[in-house]
Amino acid sequence: MDWRQALAFDRDHLWHPYSALPPHYPVWPVASAAGVRLKLADGRELIDGMASWWCVIHGYNHPRLNRAAEAQLSRMAHVMFGGLTHEPAIELGRRLVQLTPAPLEKVFFCDSGSVAVEVALKMALQYWQARGRPEKRRFLALEGGYHGDTLGAMSVCDPKTGMHHLFADYLPRQRFAPRPACRFHDPWDPASLEPLADRLARHHRELAALILEPVVQGAGGMWFYHPEYLRGARRLCDRYDVLLIADEIATGFGRTGRLLACEHAGVVPDILCLGKALTGGYLTLAAMLTTAAVAETIGSGEAGCFMHGPTFMANPLACAVAAASIDLLLASDWQVNVRRIERGLRAGLAPCRELPSVADVRVLGAIGVVEMTEAVDLAAITPKFVEAGVWLRPFGKLVYTMPAYVTTDADLAALTRAICRVVGSL
Ligand SMILES: *Cc1c(COP(=O)(O)O)cnc(C)c1O
Repeated sequence: MDWRQALAFDRDHLWHPYSALPPHYPVWPVASAAGVRLKLADGRELIDGMASWWCVIHGYNHPRLNRAAEAQLSRMAHVMFGGLTHEPAIELGRRLVQLTPAPLEKVFFCDSGSVAVEVALKMALQYWQARGRPEKRRFLALEGGYHGDTLGAMSVCDPKTGMHHLFADYLPRQRFAPRPACRFHDPWDPASLEPLADRLARHHRELAALILEPVVQGAGGMWFYHPEYLRGARRLCDRYDVLLIADEIATGFGRTGRLLACEHAGVVPDILCLGKALTGGYLTLAAMLTTAAVAETIGSGEAGCFMHGPTFMANPLACAVAAASIDLLLASDWQVNVRRIERGLRAGLAPCRELPSVADVRVLGAIGVVEMTEAVDLAAITPKFVEAGVWLRPFGKLVYTMPAYVTTDADLAALTRAICRVVGSL
């Protein structure tokens, strides 16, 4: 391929995530990827610290996942899910019901995380309609949260970083509570729950659900909060008759050291969203799970059914890879690996604490965050990381990594060394 011409086409015609056309930032062409390494078109190899936005937990080009995709491909890549069903959907559904806590047992497959959040919001709205409480049609969300880019999902993202003002007249107005103040590793401070209790006490009559990312707020600020907050949120939702939606799209499948982040608190939501690592990063697929009580209530409501059904619902290829990815995860020593990575990140990123440009360093599970005192210049910092042989994509003040669970100690050390060196050079 003539990469000079190809990159010129890319620059002229292709949007990248959160980008302008013409673009403000360069992109790097990737020719292939294997394990934790991205191979660039010019032959350079980068250690991937992003796992392609939390997804690629087993590494790229995994033989088991490749085989699952190939086997399914030879049967059928896709078939509609309206009126038809297939083995990959059933097998994946079985696994999801098994690995999530009771009473979560009803599964809705959809295309992406944002759509799973839309589905969760609609599920909560239809639930209250069916219960004869149509006035419960707003959502309570947390500042610093991120739930996706579609309109409904965006309405429950952090009101500032979620760009609500850009779409102000178009977005549904939701309620917000401040970001949970008590940090994951600090002693529990009951006062940090008070703002949430206050919002629920004042607004519960109009609230369909509280939506949050359990324990780890991801793209809204990489913030780790105390599991006791989640227990308190569950109690408050029960007291005020408000559903609890746990968005585990980023945290699911072991990233925080537990299979689901809700397990840190022993809390079961009424509605759960999964995505990102669901297919091991192979294909776009997400799932929403809920209880028999919610499902049956919706079925008995005016509509008589749940009003959603995407074209590519339960895509067989994606479901087959997802089932294989879950089997691979559960058969592996993932807890040992995540704990090993946690130790490596803690040790490797510790030197950053001494730097004047660094405000905070925090690590939980296979997530390492260096928060700077000021926003980093993406156009300046990314080439430095590439020069250092690693792939990282900071946002705002946050330089962070969520490597694949198969990352070796040596690669992890290379990753954290590069972070310390580049951050230290700013
Ligand atoms: C990434 C993410 C989403 C959106 O998922 P997409 O697949 O990008 O639509 C929603 N919620 C959380 C917590 C996420 O991290």
